[in-house]
Amino acid sequence: MNPNEIIYMDHAATTPTDPRVLEAMLPYFCSRYGNPSTIYSLGTEARAAVDEAREHIAALIGCNPDEIFFTGGATEADNWAIKGVAWANESRGRHIITSAIEHHAVLEPCEFLQRHGFEVTFVRVGSDGIVDPEDVRKAIRKDTILISIMHSNNEVGTIQPVEEIGKIAAEHGIPFHTDAVQSAGKIPLDVNKIGCQMMSLSAHKLYGPKGVGALYIKKGTRITPLLHGGGQEKKKRAGTLNVPAIVGMGEAFRLAAEEMEEDARRQTVLRDRLIQGILQIPDTRLNGHPTKRLPNNVNVCVEGAEGEAMLLALDEEGICVSSGSACTSGTLDPSHVLLAMGIPPEIAHGSLRITLGRSNTAEHVERFLEVLPGIVERFRAMNPWYQKHRKAARSS
Ligand SMILES: *Cc1c(COP(=O)(O)O)cnc(C)c1O
Repeated sequence: MNPNEIIYMDHAATTPTDPRVLEAMLPYFCSRYGNPSTIYSLGTEARAAVDEAREHIAALIGCNPDEIFFTGGATEADNWAIKGVAWANESRGRHIITSAIEHHAVLEPCEFLQRHGFEVTFVRVGSDGIVDPEDVRKAIRKDTILISIMHSNNEVGTIQPVEEIGKIAAEHGIPFHTDAVQSAGKIPLDVNKIGCQMMSLSAHKLYGPKGVGALYIKKGTRITPLLHGGGQEKKKRAGTLNVPAIVGMGEAFRLAAEEMEEDARRQTVLRDRLIQGILQIPDTRLNGHPTKRLPNNVNVCVEGAEGEAMLLALDEEGICVSSGSACTSGTLDPSHVLLAMGIPPEIAHGSLRITLGRSNTAEHVERFLEVLPGIVERFRAMNPWYQKHRKAARSS
């Protein structure tokens, strides 16, 4: 291993663009730059490339290509699913069900709607970070117009029982949206098995470019556009299509379909070695379900050491990880996901998220396990609370 090599273990925050994806995108900047809404050959060529990308994305989630609508990322897809369904159905009711552990791209639109006359139930999760489908059932009211529960969680990697939730939603005739950003390309997805009417996807979490995503919208779903303008995307999402990014997203999804199984198998071995190695350090715990979790996700709490401090110390060793989620680091609020799982704030502050990807090797994992204990020891030695309570508790 090159000593100057960066060990990137934050693939839930973003991934590098796969060189094969970049290669596929490049012609669409300077030579095949046509606007896909135009009808001369330069335009129809771009249109064909967009349609091919749509097919690759549809193939990964088991829908029809004409049910894929491109967006400027999954934040837009989540906002659209929630506000769009709320606005299209407000004459029927104004109640939405979601969970306490959603990504901010779901929580914030829900809170926005609360300020505009909608009511939202945030279903709790167990200490394992999993939503109980019966809690969703109990939350349903006559005026419920949307259920939005993520496919897998971006912080603790827990895979949610979306098929059961989909059944419950169908029994009540309520549209079901799932944010599958972290699952896409890591575990199989099938919108028909899940029974969802909407699914949010992003390119940059699976080796595609940033700033492009998609919303799957099942045919017949009532949804109001967020963006009004030109007639693109069957008049549902105005704006000239970002052709190079869309082509990149398509290629990333095509590659994911081919490589997912092998990636997952390989990363699961590395993940389990990391978990086993980290838990050798006293007073550490694994967050989230031990097995119902993404193949690349490790999330731990280290008592007596601050997550942010450990992150920065690891950065000095050339290792990139996250404490809490990328969107909240920079603030010192403990993760809303860990708090929702009942982890006390003082322990939640000591969390680290390590998310593996295609580039990671067994050597990277061993290097991480070599440096972490010293870092933890250093911070604990400076922490009078830890010295007093934990060490004393163990020696008695
Ligand atoms: C990253 C992420 C998003 C936001 O996606 P962008 O494409 O970066 O806007 C939404 N939901 C989850 C679960 C994510 O991990």
